[in-house]
Amino acid sequence: MAGQKILIVEDEVKISRFLELELTHEGYEVEQAHDGRTGLDKILNKVFDLIILDIMLPSINGLEILRRIRKNSDIPVIILTAKDETMEKVMGLDMGADDYVTKPFAIEELLARIRVALKRKAATTKNKILQIHDLKLDVDKYLLTFDNEPIELTKREFELLKYLLENKNIVLTRDRILETVWGYDYAGDTNVVDVYIRYLRSKIDDKFNKKFIHTVRGVGYLLRDEE
Ligand code: CA
Repeated sequence: MAGQKILIVEDEVKISRFLELELTHEGYEVEQAHDGRTGLDKILNKVFDLIILDIMLPSINGLEILRRIRKNSDIPVIILTAKDETMEKVMGLDMGADDYVTKPFAIEELLARIRVALKRKAATTKNKILQIHDLKLDVDKYLLTFDNEPIELTKREFELLKYLLENKNIVLTRDRILETVWGYDYAGDTNVVDVYIRYLRSKIDDKFNKKFIHTVRGVGYLLRDEE
């Protein structure tokens, strides 16, 4: 399917550029990162359909990036390994990589593996819609609407709202929210949950004069079915 977004995390700029050209030619939207830190930042802040991940990378290596991705995402990941990196390849697959390609590779082979991984993903995620009343979150399309009016969300707001909707009518503690939406190794301020709850409230509750998001004082938050 055209327009799917692929992130290439590869420090060998020549290979990365070559992949970008080929993938763009195939109709994919492509972004590149040439070191691990930049790659991980992009992954945490943007939505991609597939990631091509080199293992040996400066700053954060590919296996560590993969470990962090798999904490809360099943996005297809194809790892790139060098010929002598059998161990890394095995570890990568054990850690949840969908597939691997060994460098040097034929572009046709990588393209085929990308198609397979995207198809497999599409088959497992049917059009998933989370809903309370007129508030609908189409998870695949990454689209939130209230009474059919679209509401723009950042990636983090989307993840937070998705988690609340998946657990509607259940009180979620700040710690649980933090672990699920921000990850276990999040080291910043725990107030970030309250800040993002405020963002969601202003975009949904306040804007449409509703009360979906409830505070349970001293505990956390819940999304309630009835108003
Ligand atoms: Ca490399």
